[in-house]
Order: sequence, then structure tokens, then C-alpha cells
Amino acid sequence: MIDWAARDKQVVWHPFTHMSEWISGDPLVIDRGEGSFLYDVAGRRYLDGVSSLWCNVHGHAHPRLNAALREQLDRLAHSTFLGLTHKPGIELADMLVRLAPKGLTRVFYSDSGSTAVEIALKQAFQYWQLRGESRPRFVRLEHAYHGDTLGAVGVGGIEIFHRIFGPLIHESIGVRTPATYPNPDKLSGEDLSARSLAALAKTLDEHGSQIAAVVMEPLIQGAAGMITHPAGFATGVQKLCRERGVLFIVDEVATGFGRTGTMFACEQEELEPDFLCVAKGITGGYLPLAATLARESIFEAFLGARSEMKAFFHGHTYTANPLACAVAIESISMLEEGVLERGKDLGGYLGRLLREFVEPMKWVGDVRRRGLMIGIELVEDRTTGRPFPVEHFQGVKVCEAARKHGVILRPLGDVIVWMPPFNMNRDEADLLASATMRAIEDVCG
Ligand code: PMP
Repeated sequence: MIDWAARDKQVVWHPFTHMSEWISGDPLVIDRGEGSFLYDVAGRRYLDGVSSLWCNVHGHAHPRLNAALREQLDRLAHSTFLGLTHKPGIELADMLVRLAPKGLTRVFYSDSGSTAVEIALKQAFQYWQLRGESRPRFVRLEHAYHGDTLGAVGVGGIEIFHRIFGPLIHESIGVRTPATYPNPDKLSGEDLSARSLAALAKTLDEHGSQIAAVVMEPLIQGAAGMITHPAGFATGVQKLCRERGVLFIVDEVATGFGRTGTMFACEQEELEPDFLCVAKGITGGYLPLAATLARESIFEAFLGARSEMKAFFHGHTYTANPLACAVAIESISMLEEGVLERGKDLGGYLGRLLREFVEPMKWVGDVRRRGLMIGIELVEDRTTGRPFPVEHFQGVKVCEAARKHGVILRPLGDVIVWMPPFNMNRDEADLLASATMRAIEDVCG
């Protein structure tokens, strides 16, 4: 029998992975997936508690998605979108424009969340150039995460991921996000929001003519540790952008396609951004695909005779890959046909499990949820909120322990993430909760 783990250790370099630990560890080699479960090469099954890094929507190997993919495969696997077009790319763009916030009428495809953001940044910059203004700066929230390519890292604010690349990037201006203000006086979310918005207004007043756009995730900053925003915060940011004449980029790479309870989180705040970045769940978690949607007025600035050289010179080999577009169309149709509603039920059920069983645990300092995006924050002392020492890597250990109880989890520091696929049933949700609680007991108890 082939020792896949041993072979992996010889030739593979994994993302976001401390490779010396990986090499001395016991990697899980996944063989197949079915519904909410992944199976390893030894046939053991694990509940996929994080939707394969937040992208799976309907479960693994879904018959409808498989069929859509096969059908497209028999027609065309790939043909470039540079100078040519194809039906799945057009049909999906139509669908995205129909579902996205009002005013977003143009779809530019790419292949990851990072590229979707990178493209919005470059389009925003070039838009101002084409209007005769040089605006080289971007504003982002504290702890922001928008991807790993250099432009996206430039609007990132997570110290351990981003600091090292400081000399390579074009630094953005960070504005404090409401939830992270020191709050000894127990100010309301509204007050914290007002503070953050005042800081943003000040930044825009000081640097306004230099700023191309403000970029943010709406409702919840995922990779930052599932940091939730008070209601109305994103609307406040949008209002300031409009008043100060700065473009507004919304990153729905994590929140898009039903994750927060509506097709896009924008709907819950009536946001109408200038750019919308989507990826992850767009293909139901099947294939790499992303899209950056823009307003017609932005698009129009790029129009002109060839000799004017106004085109947006950016494109990837697999832009709008037809297989990915075909599976995306099917996945989004399924969301519209009732899966979105099902996701709301699942969210409600998980909310109950969290309130009744997880929140009362001694080591749980906070539980944050927006739809099916959930963060369980572990602390050493919940009365004072004192965190575990960083060097204990408690979050990593809890996720390792959960695997022994049959559930795959991945932490963000000491925040344990639940991001279930929408098809997860109640028994599976119970398993997710019980395995997480047992793992917390194993490690913290
Ligand atoms: N933006 C957000 C909000 C994300 O959560 C992520 C990935 N976690 C990205 C961008 C980057 O996406 P990708 O990993 O597909 O490049």
C-alpha cells in the first residue's frame, strides 16, 4: 500500500503551514467526500466543520453539481476569455448582476478571493487615473484580511501574516474596527461604531484626495477572528465614502452566497458599493473562480478608442473557466431554490446549540455568529476575559483534538471556527457541537 503521507512530506509545501511540524506530524490524507463528510485513505470519516476552508455550500459530491460539471466537461473544459467568450461565462455574469446589489452591472472574472480584491484595487486606481487624478492610497479596517497576493496584502492588517511583507507592499491606512476599541465603560455597539466612523471621517478628511477607495468585509470580518460589526456600521462607511467622493469596495469573498443568511451580506445593510468581490462559495466549493463586479460608471471610464489605451490590462489564463462557471450557475440556482432558506434554519439550530451548550463552557469567552459564519473564542479566564498565552496555541490544539472526535476544524488563533455546509442536518450539527465541546474539554480541562 502506498504511504501517501510519507510521499507528501517529501514533495509538497502546504499553504499557511509550519512545514517542520507537518513533516514530524501525522497528516490526514483525504480520499473522497460525500455530503457533509470527508473520508481519508484509510476509510475513516470526518465531518467537514469548516466547509473546506469556507467554500463548500451543498456538501461534497452533490449529484446536481456533479452532473452540471460533467455536462460542461463534454462540451468544453476551457477556452480563453481574452478575446473570446462563452455561454457559461455570459450566463453566470447575468445571474450575478441580477443578484448583486443594485448598480453593479459589470462582471470581471478571476480565480481566487485574492485576485478578486486585487482587481478591484487596480480598477479603482486606474479609474481615478483615467479621470485625471492620481489616488494611490487605500483605506482598510484594522485586522483586515483580503487575501495573499501583494496588492491584497497591502490592504491587510493581520500582523503575523502581513508584517513580513511590509517592504514589498504599498501600505494602506488602517482604521480601527468597532469591536476592538478598549471598552471598559461597556459602550454600546452603536457608540463604538460612531467612534470608528469618526476615525474614518478624519482619515478621509486628512488624506481624501489621495484615497482611491475604502475596502471592507460587511457585517463580519472572517479571517480577523469572526469579528462582527454593529448593525449599521457598513452603511455608515458607505455614507462617508459617498460624502467624501471615495470609492467603496466590498469584499464578500467569505460572506457571499448565503453565508450570513442573505445571498449577499450587502442586502442586510442596503449597501450599494462601487465594487463587489466574490469567490469561495461561488462554485459551491468545487472549482477556483472569482468575480469582481463594478458599476457601469466605473466601466465606462475604461471605454475609448484602442489608441487611447484605456483598457484594463489584467487577466489570468483560467479567467472564467467554463467548468467553474457551469458549476457556479447550478450552485447558485440551488441556493435560490431553497438552500438559502435551509441555511437559515441550520443557522438557527446552531445558534441554539451554541447558547445552550457551548457558551456556558468555562473556557468560552465569546461566541459570534452571522448566519453560518461562527467564531467561538477561547479564553483562560472568562470572568476577566484573559486570553490563553499565545505560545500555548490552544486553538490549534483544540482543532487537533476535534479530529480525534471525527470533526475537521481550523482555528483563527484561539477562535474556533464553525462554517458548516448548508446541507448539514441536525444530527451532523449535534456531532459538530459535541466534538468541539469534547475537544475543548480535552485541551483546556
Ligand atoms: N477576502 C476574504 C474576506 C477572505 O476570507 C479570503 C480567504 N479566506 C480572501 C479574500 C482570499 O481568498 P482566496 O484564499 O481565495 O485567495
